[in-house]
Amino acid sequence: MSAEIHHASCQCGAARAEMTGAPKFVGNCHCDACRRATGGAVSTWVGFDDNQVKWLTAAPSFYASSKGVQRGFCAKCGTPLTYAGEKWAGETHFLIGVMEKPENYAPQGEVFADEALAWAQHIEKKT
Ligand SMILES: [Zn+2]
Ligand SMILES: [Zn+2]
Repeated sequence: MSAEIHHASCQCGAARAEMTGAPKFVGNCHCDACRRATGGAVSTWVGFDDNQVKWLTAAPSFYASSKGVQRGFCAKCGTPLTYAGEKWAGETHFLIGVMEKPENYAPQGEVFADEALAWAQHIEKKT
């Protein structure tokens, strides 16, 4: 049996990645930093180990949004793509919206639920 394969792409296709094997987690992040980085109220992340991730194109551009954090984005179309931080060293997290089949990744929990917008606080605090 061959290992499962996942794909991610920005809007224009200049940054595409392939991930081998099951994601480590899928979680909704409510932190302010993710809100600013993505422009969305909640960010759903699909986490992989770095060694599961292979860029099929050149790697994207990165912005150090805070100390020890690198957020990947496509410099051509502006799509936010990835998160890598010291807190989860050795992992690359992809935003669910850039995954090829986002419907396949159901979040298992909430992260930074204490920073959630008031109208989003009905989401059960699982973490
Ligand atoms: Zn792009
Ligand atoms: Zn966050």
